[in-house]
Amino acid sequence: MELYERTLDLFFPKRCPVCDDIVNEPGKLICDECREELKLIGDPYCLKCGRPVRDPAMRLCELCREKEEKYRFVKGRAVFEYDDVLKESIYRFKYGGRKEYGEYYAKVMAEALGDQILSWQPQAFIPIPLHKRRYNVRGYNQASVIAEKLSEILGIPVREDILIRSENTRKQKELSVSQRENNLKKALKIKHYDVKLKNIVLVDDIYTTGSTIDVAAACLIDKGAENIYYSVIGAAAV
Ligand SMILES: [Zn+2]
Ligand SMILES: [Zn+2]
Repeated sequence: MELYERTLDLFFPKRCPVCDDIVNEPGKLICDECREELKLIGDPYCLKCGRPVRDPAMRLCELCREKEEKYRFVKGRAVFEYDDVLKESIYRFKYGGRKEYGEYYAKVMAEALGDQILSWQPQAFIPIPLHKRRYNVRGYNQASVIAEKLSEILGIPVREDILIRSENTRKQKELSVSQRENNLKKALKIKHYDVKLKNIVLVDDIYTTGSTIDVAAACLIDKGAENIYYSVIGAAAV
């Protein structure tokens, strides 16, 4: 670790993404005992969306068995199971000013999924954008924080100048699935597309219904992208 980072740690000690206490050991991003609290998604997982699946004989989760052909993205992976522990952590990461959690999440994402992500041969990471008004309230976009750190580790550039969120969409969780999709189709737009980009990895915090990722994928494909993948911190089993 660089001296500069060590010094920073002394002044701005990191908080643990699980218990939110200050992690006392410099250079550490999570308490040893809290590390076990987050469940890494291992086999079996859905080969399309990356959710954990309970039955090892199942190649796809229940939702993807119905929708697989309709998705515009190729596939995606998630690091952790989206359970109550992760849910609370992500909430603080997004709304509680705990930007620092992003460093831990990106690091584990690189360790767990780095080889897979690189095997997709992406030319760019694109974080799912946040509307400006929300950005101004929070001070950062959690997806960008992850993408930037992941970029530092894996050496793939982050492009935030391509996909934009044009209007302040209502909170997605208050809407039905079809309302969500319509809302998003209006909101996500391509500012200007870079024709050199063929394979893109979208980066976001959680994968829920998949509609955000899929609308983003559709926007990019319509402009000439070929293969859209994604990498997220969490996805829930169905
Ligand atoms: Zn802890
Ligand atoms: Zn699935």
